[in-house]
Amino acid sequence: MLSYEQARQVVIREVTALGQTTGVAKCALREALGFVLAGEVLADRDYPPFHRSTRDGYAVRAAEAQAGAALPCVGEWKAGDASTTPLAAGTCVQIMTGAGAPPGADAIVMIEHTEREGERVKFLRSAVAGQNIVARGSEARAGNALLRPGQRMGFAEIGLAAQVGAVQVTVHSKPRVAILSTGDEVVSAEETPGPFQIRNSNNFSLGAQVRSAGGVEVSLGNAADRMEAIRAKIEEGLRCDALVISGGVSMGKYDLVEPALRELGAQFHFDAVAIRPGKPAVFATCQGKPVFGLPGNPVSTMVTFELFAAPALDILSGAPARPLALLRARLAEAVRQNAGLTHFTPARIAWVEGEPVVRELRWRGSGDIAALGQANCFLVVDGDKGEMAAGEWAMVLPRRDVV
Ligand code: AMP
Ligand code: MG
Repeated sequence: MLSYEQARQVVIREVTALGQTTGVAKCALREALGFVLAGEVLADRDYPPFHRSTRDGYAVRAAEAQAGAALPCVGEWKAGDASTTPLAAGTCVQIMTGAGAPPGADAIVMIEHTEREGERVKFLRSAVAGQNIVARGSEARAGNALLRPGQRMGFAEIGLAAQVGAVQVTVHSKPRVAILSTGDEVVSAEETPGPFQIRNSNNFSLGAQVRSAGGVEVSLGNAADRMEAIRAKIEEGLRCDALVISGGVSMGKYDLVEPALRELGAQFHFDAVAIRPGKPAVFATCQGKPVFGLPGNPVSTMVTFELFAAPALDILSGAPARPLALLRARLAEAVRQNAGLTHFTPARIAWVEGEPVVRELRWRGSGDIAALGQANCFLVVDGDKGEMAAGEWAMVLPRRDVV
């Protein structure tokens, strides 16, 4: 059986091999958060565009502004002024943060390192050439690519694009991800369930996971545990860029997702992973599309989506798969897991005096979404570790939507 790392590598390899199925579109910069760039963003001019002062102080020739020396202050430049008049020898000018240093000045002396005596400025420390000036073009030269295809647009990328006037950017369309649940017991969340029915929470949680992973959810609702019903819905789902199915992948008599996929010519890459919850997770490719068959218990569905479907969405979005952002934290209490599988259990991480500490939550197994609702991470414990003592370092997978 594959480990979860091996299974992720299989997903990354196979989805990469399928190639890009989504198109490219222009996107208003304000709407670009979470999209992946398909084109470059170029510097429209040098950055900074002038020799920029990074301090409030005095623009000087460093050789003249030695400790104990005094120079007459002959002018003032504030941010936005066109500081084109050269600095006369034997003088200084007052300058503000963000203003351009005048030609001839090679240093800015912080106001804190000076004393003002009328029109004269006395220097308390010796200036060093280049200090507190960011030279024109030292951040970027006109025409340099500042952002490249495959980069995800976050707040810094959006700010950078705005700086160079790229108010429209070329991005990959978000992958459309079909979400299908299965089960005779499942009714829609809007309905009042009968005594032995349950509401379709996976339809909502998977939709949220698809969106937070950079996709667009396309809900196919629920299919009853009948071959024709499941098959028809899968065929519909294969028109999207990816298909995520919940339920129907275990060993029960009515677990029909794998047989239905097989009938449609799916190629299976794994149908079990050494994890708990989520061991029966299935990954296949079918008619050029990735298909995930995730076990239906809600916590299993959530864990397996994060581990296996999220990297597929990254690739379909035009970006490299993001690594699993695992952390190390100290165990607040001892934990014990059975041998063989890697366990992902609901837990809370907190930072106590700068050190991460994790505490496992009591939970009643993979149907217990209430426990996950209290959790901000999963504690990740390899079964072969046996018992781990309080204070030991353990692996933690933060819930990326809440931490
Ligand atoms: P399955 O993987 O089909 O064997 O389903 C396992 C359990 O998960 C079932 O007993 C249901 O209680 C639960 N379940 C299945 N599908 C859903 C769903 N769409 N929403 C919430 N719970 C579900
Ligand atoms: Mg079922």
